[in-house]
Amino acid sequence: MEALDQILKTCFCDLKFYKYEIKLMAPFPAPQRSYLEAALLEARERYAAKRPNSAALHREAVSVLPGGNTRTVLAYAPFPTAMDRGESCRLWDIDGNAYLDLCGEYTAGLFGHTEPRIHSAMQQAMARGLSLGAVGKAEQLLARILYDRFSSIDLIRFTNSGTEANLIALSAARVSTGRSRIIAFKGGYHGSVLHFPVTGASPILVPFPTTLCEYNDTEGTVAAIKAMGDDLAAVIVEPMLGSGGCIAASPEFLTAVAEATRATGALLIFDEVMTSRMAGGGMQQRLDVEPDITTLGKYVGGGMSFGAFGGRREVMEIFTSRVAHPGTFNNNVMTMAAGIAAMGEVFTPAVAEELFSLGERLRGRLNAICEAAGAPLQFTGIGSLATPHFRRGDITSPYAASAVEESLKELFFFDMLDAGVYLARRGMTALSLPTTETDLKEFTDAVQAFVAKRASLMQ
Ligand code: PLP
Repeated sequence: MEALDQILKTCFCDLKFYKYEIKLMAPFPAPQRSYLEAALLEARERYAAKRPNSAALHREAVSVLPGGNTRTVLAYAPFPTAMDRGESCRLWDIDGNAYLDLCGEYTAGLFGHTEPRIHSAMQQAMARGLSLGAVGKAEQLLARILYDRFSSIDLIRFTNSGTEANLIALSAARVSTGRSRIIAFKGGYHGSVLHFPVTGASPILVPFPTTLCEYNDTEGTVAAIKAMGDDLAAVIVEPMLGSGGCIAASPEFLTAVAEATRATGALLIFDEVMTSRMAGGGMQQRLDVEPDITTLGKYVGGGMSFGAFGGRREVMEIFTSRVAHPGTFNNNVMTMAAGIAAMGEVFTPAVAEELFSLGERLRGRLNAICEAAGAPLQFTGIGSLATPHFRRGDITSPYAASAVEESLKELFFFDMLDAGVYLARRGMTALSLPTTETDLKEFTDAVQAFVAKRASLMQ
């Protein structure tokens, strides 16, 4: 404990406050409290002891960055692991610890860290100069690749992030329909200002008049759509809640939502920023449900910052003359070059299928391990994306996790790091293309060891 206190003292101005936070995070009911609390403290201590350089970096960062970072999803106690370099599907932190990377940059890292075709395309683009301030061949090429892949996209435009793509898609729906209201879903994440956690509203939401429905609640959602009628501009939905826990929408739910939305004259927006990796033509192809507008992002830019929104011609035509959509970096040289190589050469529809199957096999193995151990742990998701949940039974909608579930998730995260497996703090895994079955055995072995070692804490 003393060693951890010492490290925390160097990282947090007010150690008392940090300890109070930990206490708040872990108000376990007896009798689990003492065992789980002790296991967590020991795991945090081991984590901190192996990462003195990350601790020092964090201590310096807090003086210039609020919370010591510029990306909240990467912040966690006692301090986040700082990475030094990556190669293929492997990462090394600044303390020399090595990892199998299953975080996959929250799905943007689909190609791993050193895909040679993408690197070469970027080097060639760089040699021709940056910031040309003009149209070029590249944006048209990337647009055509995506047009050919997504049958619901007649016209497409680029942005710099998924957040921006969703903001403009929603704005375009409001302009194009002449209506104002939006329906979104509890647990949905469409960007930093379009975030609807089940645990409470974000204070920095964009001020669109938004009604939240329950994910996978067909009856309730259809009723809300009908009730809104002529006021409804758009329904925005992820075909699988990504940040919300890798919870898939049922095809019946999406079909009913699509029909009800169209019946009112509103537009259906599929946020495929995460799920588009599920097939050559995105999750919409796998589901056989077409939205009016699709938003894309993450990996499509080959590892560069990227966003896109595209859809029906008559909606997108508003950008031909009626509505301006500037954006200094919308066609930036590096993203266009990386995106063309990534989507044109590397992530072909056949490769998308292979990755999907690899992920399905992995999730099957993980759930078999949990079942064989009788552990109240399951991995939900589709294809190459998965999230652990410390509860039994079907999970069809997001939920507020109990303190015990939160603590088990934290313990899982630290145990995976200790086993050399890097994943998102919330436990989400996103496979990257260089990952093989042999690599994944490291993960399944680590999960097997976790359910054995932590069995008594999960009961
Ligand atoms: N939509 C979904 C489904 C996402 O998962 C994310 C990011 O995690 C976004 C939108 C926002 O994308 P970006 O982080 O590029 O702004």
